[in-house]
Amino acid sequence: MLRFKSLGSGSSGNATLVEASRGDITSRVLIDCGLSMAQLRSQLAPMDLDLEDIHALFVTHEHSDHVGHAKQFGLKTGRPIFASQGTQLAIQVHAWGLREEQIQCASDSEVIQIGQLQLSPFTVPHDAREPLQLSLSDGELKLGLVTDLGHVSSHVVRALQNCHALILECNHDEHMLRLSKYPSFLKARISGPLGHLSNKDSAQLLRSVLNGNLKTVVAAHLSEKNNTPELATKALYEVLDPQGPQLIVADPNEGTDWITVH
Ligand SMILES: [Zn+2]
Ligand SMILES: [Zn+2]
Repeated sequence: MLRFKSLGSGSSGNATLVEASRGDITSRVLIDCGLSMAQLRSQLAPMDLDLEDIHALFVTHEHSDHVGHAKQFGLKTGRPIFASQGTQLAIQVHAWGLREEQIQCASDSEVIQIGQLQLSPFTVPHDAREPLQLSLSDGELKLGLVTDLGHVSSHVVRALQNCHALILECNHDEHMLRLSKYPSFLKARISGPLGHLSNKDSAQLLRSVLNGNLKTVVAAHLSEKNNTPELATKALYEVLDPQGPQLIVADPNEGTDWITVH
């Protein structure tokens, strides 16, 4: 069984828990650690889980909403942290005081096996040193995860084919961003080719990866200033059949419930 739960999604901090189980073996990976250990513990406690029940951390890139508390996670749990060479350099992970074997390199197209879970990272266009996003699989079902990318590259579209579930960035509504009080350099960064996807871009990406097995779409990483769940939902329903995949919007602070991939 493959299931996942967003623990928080957006500029205030990202973390997604993915779990695969077969027989009595259960493997759990945390994707990004933008939440404090106290926040993580309070999210995990109702599920009867603690930090040590997470077997590895995958850091997608060095922005603080993704890596802000990764050091504490590594020091507290002793679990391996996977990140690209560029991300490792950007966060200076070798100065964190971790054991050398905790620091693991992730690269585009190189599958990482963590117990029952296979992680397949791929490069995305985003203004970080070597950003990766990824898909995860239990060998049968596939979950795609893209939360930070500036435009839809053909490489990303290829990597997200045949997903059964998809966590998809819907960062901003173009009109709201244009009218917002953000300084113009920031607006240019967000809407630029290495920034974040607008609802319209996300819908375009969704259109290119739609398939008959896609059962769940989670709209994620919504800007609290420049987007609303209603606008994101409306944009994605331009592409989705209302009788088709279920659409869930991740709450910036609460994330989502457990979602089983099927
Ligand atoms: Zn980012
Ligand atoms: Zn982000």
